Amino acid sequence: MLGYCSNSPLRCTNARTMKILSQVDSCCPECHLFLIPAQDISQQLRADEQFLRFSILLIVFILLVSVYIYYLHFV
Ligand SMILES: [Zn+2]
Repeated sequence: MLGYCSNSPLRCTNARTMKILSQVDSCCPECHLFLIPAQDISQQLRADEQFLRFSILLIVFILLVSVYIYYLHFV
């Protein structure tokens, strides 16, 4: 697993340097504490972008539908 050391920066050099560790047992090799999972930033960005695009499309669709309903009933 890929992650950062979850120990205090005062107690472990890996926590101090925020080094990304790749450990099979998901424990810090220095102090043997569990790692905080590090997410792939590019993947996270892509997911955020997709979510934003989807919400914009949804808002535009709702606007169009409300304009359509408005014209249907009041014009
Ligand atoms: Zn550590």
